[in-house]
Amino acid sequence: AIAIEQLDKWFGTFHVLRGVDLTVKRGEKIVICGPSGSGKSTLIRCINRLEAFERGRIIVDGIELTDDVKRVDEIRREVGMVFQQFNLFPHLTVLENCTLAPIWVRQMPRREAEEVARHYLERVRIPEQAGKYPGQLSGGQQQRVAIARALCMNPRIMLFDEPTSALDPEMVKEVLDTMVQLALDGMTMVVVSHEMGFAREVADRVVFMDVGQIVEAAPPREFFDAPRHDRAKAFLAQVL
Ligand code: ATP
Ligand code: MG
Repeated sequence: AIAIEQLDKWFGTFHVLRGVDLTVKRGEKIVICGPSGSGKSTLIRCINRLEAFERGRIIVDGIELTDDVKRVDEIRREVGMVFQQFNLFPHLTVLENCTLAPIWVRQMPRREAEEVARHYLERVRIPEQAGKYPGQLSGGQQQRVAIARALCMNPRIMLFDEPTSALDPEMVKEVLDTMVQLALDGMTMVVVSHEMGFAREVADRVVFMDVGQIVEAAPPREFFDAPRHDRAKAFLAQVL
């Protein structure tokens, strides 16, 4: 579970997050949408402390995020993240990408790490790509490797930052299918995405952000069929 209370963050003098409150229960799936520059990436990057914040609290599975490096490590252990630009290590094979952190961060024996990696590569349906390098894969395959790699650390929460927006249209579905599967398995998920079909199918709540604030948060049916705020209506008119 995640509790975000009255979060404020500045980039220099720019007030990027303005009093954000958000709780995510265990097993819940949240889709965050909103215009470019509204602070979506910054918000989820605060959850695993890729960004610092100036005011407010974030508590992940009972661990409060502070400047304490040990706490940050503890939380990063709980939280997996998948980015728009895959961020795979190009000089490592798919299997090595998946075993690197378990071996070096978790001190898992190599044999066991490889077994875990093959299990998750199977789950994202690319077991046959284990020996290839990222550059030899399609974008959709690379993103599925990134998801498998995150899962190899056995996270309790997965954060996704526009995981399909760098993909060619024909590859979007294979990545979304993987994420739907993960959702069905009960993973707690916070997904920044403009894939409204995915949001309708999977989200417990859709959160709409604008200029650093959560303007609206509602179950998908309510959000899509009867958005309450003008800014949400205007946004939906553009993306739907
Ligand atoms: P997009 O949909 O384009 O990904 P976003 O909602 O994810 O947008 P953020 O990336 O969180 O938006 O950025 C919010 C605002 O903060 C933007 O105005 C951006 O220019 C600014 N910003 C982001 N990162 C930094 C940084 N490291 N330094 C200064 N300003 C930043
Ligand atoms: Mg972003």
